[in-house]
Amino acid sequence: MTKKLNIFLAGPRGFCAGVDRAIEMVKGALKKYGAPVYVRHEIVHNKFVVENLKSQGAIFVEELNEIQDKSRPVIFSAHGVPKAVPEEALSLNLMYYDATCPLVSKIHKEVENFDKKNLPVILIGHRNHPEVIGTMGQTKKEIYLVEKTEDVKKLPLNQDEKIAYVTQTTLSVDDTKDIIKEIKLHFSDVIEPKKNDICYATTNRQEAVKKIANQCDYFLVIGASNSSNSLRLVEVAKNYGSKKAILVEDVDSLNLNIFQESKNIGITASASSPEILVRKLLNNLKKNFEVKVNEGHYQKEDVFFKVPQKLNI
Ligand code: SF4
Repeated sequence: MTKKLNIFLAGPRGFCAGVDRAIEMVKGALKKYGAPVYVRHEIVHNKFVVENLKSQGAIFVEELNEIQDKSRPVIFSAHGVPKAVPEEALSLNLMYYDATCPLVSKIHKEVENFDKKNLPVILIGHRNHPEVIGTMGQTKKEIYLVEKTEDVKKLPLNQDEKIAYVTQTTLSVDDTKDIIKEIKLHFSDVIEPKKNDICYATTNRQEAVKKIANQCDYFLVIGASNSSNSLRLVEVAKNYGSKKAILVEDVDSLNLNIFQESKNIGITASASSPEILVRKLLNNLKKNFEVKVNEGHYQKEDVFFKVPQKLNI
């Protein structure tokens, strides 16, 4: 007899507005200028998306000096870049487009403003993540990185000093609350960002997982191991009651034997994973199990970021 699986689909899931815009910008550049078009860093952290764009003529590089044909346009990824990168592009005479998500640019502006006011800035985020590198590169002054609560007390800043903080957009909402609490306990005068820096997409995807995690024996998060929002979703699924939770980087090579002792399976996709991968995974499961899909009603997101007019063709 075919084994039955109860699937709980989280919603919202998958692509966010910033990822959508960045991908459309690369496609727009390919249409406008023809291939090849260079992209600095993975445009979004998803192999499927990157391979697809490569097949259309995008060439991915990590640094601008790797660009062989300097007459071709280059696009900066959705994660944002340090100020030095557009400066380098200008000095190399490159034609560039910046696909930084507007919600990351908002944080860059905050850093600039705090900088103008001469406030020391604490950044809550993950060391070496491209978004953190980009945000730290918005000022020549030192930015104080905090990755966990314990880091706050170790900061080389006077407790009476007026300080400001910003955060990475794709952090765990829960962990970040604890770190902010610690910052406010430790420093007497704290200036906060006007609006939460963790973006709507990160917040909504984590909330969606929280709602169903305790009904699940196994939670599958379609995403990438270098994607912060993907990794956070795995943590959230575990923290909110799923017995097991894993990252699925390649839906076609998922070992289906892992479900031997599981019946209730949660599925979500990170903000950089397209819905087609969810459909592929469901089809693979349907070929091997008797599958019942449960998808609760959820508020559809209506955030949309325009592609710059020059690439909107
Ligand atoms: S996850 Fe958030 S900040 Fe990152 S690209 Fe998507 S909307 Fe923008």
